[in-house]
Amino acid sequence: MTAIETFIARIQPLVGNRISTNATVRQHHAHGEGWQSPDPAAQPDVVVFARTTEEVAAIVSACHDLYLPVIPFGGGTSLEGQLTATKGGVSLDLSQMNAIPEIRPQDLSCRVQAGVTRQQLNGLLRSDGLFFAVDPGGEATLGGMCATRASGTGAVRYGTMRENVLGLTAVMADGKIIQTGGNVRKSATGYDLTGLLIGSEGTLGIITEIQARLHPLPETILGATCQFSTLADAVDTATSIIQAGLPIGRLELLDDVQMDACIRYSSLEGYRPLPTLFFELHASPASVTEQADLLREITEYHNGLSFRASASPEERTRLWKARHDAFWACMAYRQGHKGMTTDAVVPISAMTDMITLAKQDIEESGLVAPIVGHVGDGNFHTVILIPPEPDGWARAQALDHKIIQRALDLGGSISGEHGIGIAKQMFMHNQHGNDAIMVMHAIKRALDPRNILNPGMLLPAAVSP
Ligand SMILES: Cc1cc2nc3c(=O)[nH]c(=O)nc-3n(C[C@H](O)[C@H](O)[C@H](O)COP(=O)(O)OP(=O)(O)OC[C@H]3O[C@@H](n4cnc5c(N)ncnc54)[C@H](O)[C@@H]3O)c2cc1C
Repeated sequence: MTAIETFIARIQPLVGNRISTNATVRQHHAHGEGWQSPDPAAQPDVVVFARTTEEVAAIVSACHDLYLPVIPFGGGTSLEGQLTATKGGVSLDLSQMNAIPEIRPQDLSCRVQAGVTRQQLNGLLRSDGLFFAVDPGGEATLGGMCATRASGTGAVRYGTMRENVLGLTAVMADGKIIQTGGNVRKSATGYDLTGLLIGSEGTLGIITEIQARLHPLPETILGATCQFSTLADAVDTATSIIQAGLPIGRLELLDDVQMDACIRYSSLEGYRPLPTLFFELHASPASVTEQADLLREITEYHNGLSFRASASPEERTRLWKARHDAFWACMAYRQGHKGMTTDAVVPISAMTDMITLAKQDIEESGLVAPIVGHVGDGNFHTVILIPPEPDGWARAQALDHKIIQRALDLGGSISGEHGIGIAKQMFMHNQHGNDAIMVMHAIKRALDPRNILNPGMLLPAAVSP
């Protein structure tokens, strides 16, 4: 019997028909969105759907005994090749772990299984006047969001997954179940294992439950937009808003090309294909009015063409749905093109230089690459549309690398929220230096000596001294 056959014989009695070697199921689990391995063979050999922490522990324990790779799978929306089964093995799908065992309104926290999506969670929390603030665009799971240290449009006000997770239940590489953190706002009790697992992309442990931090729904929400004739004016406005300390709820930039794509895809009537900022203010009615006045003043100072504000929930939903659909608008913008996303972050003070230079790079490349970004955090994406020509991939990659290098040169980071996966590994040395990479390898070896947890992901080879 092969190791895979032994694994199936051991696990099937536990999970029944929640195990599959079907080619379509395996192919679906071999990739996320965006970056895809050029190697079509990089697929899992088998897919298992778990429902409890104990099932996950039994599956990982079997993989440990058999030296089989195990790749956790949440919503499959990651963008950097994180689900590529570089060595085959077992795809462990956690999307059926979608129970919400505990909501604690008085503690502003809840405990959810790893397969819960933020949409599902927020639907349930609304009646308690609460919400979970991290909002990546896709139907991501909270387990996947922890594993990629995700954020989104709310991070400028409420933080990323790092700030919104209080504790975790995780299954380690040998099948042991551990709890990290807890239901408290702060803790000074040794190494921060919650922080270590967040952003580890399935390479250090499998997250099965999350103790999440919640926020009260804002008393008043005001949506606003402003269009600009130049990209620099739009970015300068965003920088001034952050530097003025305005407690903005959301602050997003769409350049002229991204606006054109969104106008077409989401029928945004009344907007022109110009650089545009989307804002949201969250406060009491009196504070919202005061903040909106300041916001308008800042946009006017930076030559804003048309500041519009609306408290109408329908109008807000329409605008933010268009923003959340920006990636799909890009995919629909040019027939037959695929997308490659950059995810650079720079210090707030370097944002105008960064985005202006990136725009120049895009123009020089001759490619179409809309810019969209969480500019309140200094984070932006270019969705490089890969032309369906033989040199399309290489041209897109050259542009991607140029923009990443610019971010590094400006003291920035190669990823703000999408993670490293396979696609960004080659920049890890430039980002961290070899000594820090060696420390990361030491952690990986200590926690996963058989290298079964998502092997080949996140860490580039260390260069021996
Ligand atoms: C349209 C669109 C918009 C997006 N917008 C944003 C955005 O604004 N901000 C942002 O941060 N991201 C964004 N993303 C990227 C993506 O949604 C995030 O990376 C998300 O966190 C991935 O979650 P997932 O459940 O889909 O994880 P998957 O894609 O299934 O997995 C991602 C990684 O996490 C690991 N993993 C999954 N579940 C677990 C678990 N339970 N335990 C341990 N490891 C696990 C996997 O092995 C893999 O390495 C966007 C993607 C799309 C398609």
